[in-house]
Amino acid sequence: MAGFGWFWKAMGSSATANQKKSKTIVGEADKAAERLAAATDADIVDIARSCIGDDEERTIEDAPLLLAAVREAASRTLGMRPFDVQLQGALRMLVGDVVEMATGEGKTLVGAMTAVGYGLQGRRVHVITVNSFLAGRDESWMGPLLDFFGLTHGAVAEEAGPDERREVYRRDVVFGAVNEIGFDVLRDQLITRRRDAVRTPADVAVIDEADSVMVDEALVPLVLAGSEPGAGPSGRITDLVRRMEEDRDFTVSGDRRNVFLTEAGAEFVERALGIDSLYAEDAGDVLSQVNVALHAQHLLVRDVHYLVRDGAVALIDNSRGRVAELQRWPDGLQAAVEAKEGLTVTDGGRILDQITIQALLGLYPRKCGMTGTAVAASDQLRQFYDLSVSVIDPNVPTRRFDEADHVYVTAEERDAAVIDHIVEVQATGQPVLVGTQDVAASEELADALVLRGVECNVLNAKNHEVEAAVIAEAGRPGRVTVSTQMAGRGTDIRLGGPDGEPGQPEHDKVVELGGLHVVGVGRFRSARLDNQLRGRAGRQGDPGSTVFFVSLEDDMVSVGGVGEELTAEPEQDGRLGQKKVLQFIDHCQRVTEGQMLDIHATTWKYNKLIADQRAIVNARRDRVLDTEAAWEDLSYHDVEKAGALQAQGIDHAVLVQAAREIMLHHLDHEWSDHLAYLDDVRESIHLRAIARESPIDEFHRLSIAAFGELAERAVALARETFSDATITEEGVDLDGLGLHKPSATWTYMVNDNPLNSTGGSVMGSIASIFR
Ligand code: ADP
Repeated sequence: MAGFGWFWKAMGSSATANQKKSKTIVGEADKAAERLAAATDADIVDIARSCIGDDEERTIEDAPLLLAAVREAASRTLGMRPFDVQLQGALRMLVGDVVEMATGEGKTLVGAMTAVGYGLQGRRVHVITVNSFLAGRDESWMGPLLDFFGLTHGAVAEEAGPDERREVYRRDVVFGAVNEIGFDVLRDQLITRRRDAVRTPADVAVIDEADSVMVDEALVPLVLAGSEPGAGPSGRITDLVRRMEEDRDFTVSGDRRNVFLTEAGAEFVERALGIDSLYAEDAGDVLSQVNVALHAQHLLVRDVHYLVRDGAVALIDNSRGRVAELQRWPDGLQAAVEAKEGLTVTDGGRILDQITIQALLGLYPRKCGMTGTAVAASDQLRQFYDLSVSVIDPNVPTRRFDEADHVYVTAEERDAAVIDHIVEVQATGQPVLVGTQDVAASEELADALVLRGVECNVLNAKNHEVEAAVIAEAGRPGRVTVSTQMAGRGTDIRLGGPDGEPGQPEHDKVVELGGLHVVGVGRFRSARLDNQLRGRAGRQGDPGSTVFFVSLEDDMVSVGGVGEELTAEPEQDGRLGQKKVLQFIDHCQRVTEGQMLDIHATTWKYNKLIADQRAIVNARRDRVLDTEAAWEDLSYHDVEKAGALQAQGIDHAVLVQAAREIMLHHLDHEWSDHLAYLDDVRESIHLRAIARESPIDEFHRLSIAAFGELAERAVALARETFSDATITEEGVDLDGLGLHKPSATWTYMVNDNPLNSTGGSVMGSIASIFR
């Protein structure tokens, strides 16, 4: 794999030095403990404040006393006395590293102590979590520690409106899910009055599950769309498509992610609608309507891909198996599904703006993070964020046993073996957590287990809170829990149940049985993801074991092992136990890891350019928002109109705002068009990529050329609008000129799995939503 492996070897010595240094500092903090134990709360706060310098040197120099003060405060307010390793973790995050700490080591507290450190430096901190449930939970859990130091705090709730959000963002320490924060950034880029902005920018991002957020989801675009009537298929087409038959009128790809119209299907539509050819230019968008309706009708399965709740379609976010609130499918697919279900069809949409998570994190001058699996992401963290990784030892040495993979030739054999294995383990009373690749696999497995008399909990399309509660129960004796790898993350699995602790009969029983047993079905596309799952077992020195069941038909193996030959004879039970087979599986995974890194780097190059252009547009937007620039320009270009308006005695402030709205309308509209154009360019470049030497250079050339004209065109259109528009004391009437504002906006994340995606376009990656 191309990367920085060599670099880390070279850096090894300095990483060890850092670790030594942190241990020494934490050791010194111990010495201050006694004195602090006798101090008053106010004294402790004073001591902590006196330790704060705004540069790194001082942070390290005065760290022992600061850490001792925060430790004492945590003991007093939370009833948890931070372990040495937790102080080490907080220290490394205060110098800006990503720390690797295993599951159950208490990273929530580490993150909060880090936030205290930065907060005392007078920096505004965002503690970024993977979902809003965790943001809320962590904020109320850690709140007392922040209160102790006089730091204000809040959490961005999914359901909070603009006023509440605005208020929360003003606080010192804000807990928020990465997508919520991103959506607020996008919405703030569309305001026409400064006072409507909800965000107050922060100085520091403390990122939980750092590798998931910064690497796995880095290039997931967060999208803000606005309604534009009429993009869905007509009722007529929905009816036609419903009558079509698979394999006669259309075919579906083996993985059921794509659907293709056959000749017979096309003729059927042409006859029914009385048109000559679906493929003729003048057939307009009938073909795309048919395709979208086919997709909705035959690929999207109710209760697997979406639910119907309260008369509306709710998407299930399949990569995590949850209902994705406030999200919808783009480009008419939503409307097609609504039509299929006989619901009121909502408007089609237009993408107003988008931002990748990587670009979002780029808005923070300072970043640090924590995760159970950072080392394996070192290359990416350094390459894309210039961050280093620090490994923190576990508080109690691990006792987890990772068994060698069980490999089979076919997926069928693998599944049969998994089921036998789970039945066997469950019979002993040992709790089992099964991690699958996606929701569909979870459900199939659970169904098969039920047939064998094994009751199990499936984590699937529920809300985060329920999921967390179910995961917390996964350590009960005899419990079998089936989930996708991500479900319920951030929640600790205690042996014996949520309140399990040594001495309790259920806890001790599970310990005796060997702790939590984790079973992975199929290895993931990176070892890091495997380890995220394995990390569920063996928390805080608990016993635990893990094993993966793999088949040569698995996606990861077939993608990573392309063009390679493996000859091996299965054993009696169908298992391929040879060392070379196990090595082959690891090899395939290294190949897919390498591919993903390459894809990440390339895709980021595209996205970086878009992000840079967005920054330029934003700078211009800011000037229009904060100054009278728009009025100055427009009134200068139509002196007559400006004079007439003034003669009517319209308030100057109203005129300024009217000019601003006109200018921003066109700027935003041009930007939205530009995004659509870039999407097309990228798509077509991918198609032509084979012939081209460097698609990215071509993309740069075309996008820079188009961008150059964007601002000019926006200004020209704004001048036209200014001359044509009716402006009164009430403001400007843009609707009257057909310049509609979107009647509603909504947000969604495009779950883009780069290994399957054909390009970067939203439509192109719809396929991967169904993973
Ligand atoms: P992680 O995010 O690292 O998996 P959590 O922050 O969820 O871990 O914490 C795991 C568990 O450990 C929680 O139940 C928490 O109460 C407990 N815990 C964390 N730190 C301490 C401590 N210093 N003393 C006692 N319990 C702790």
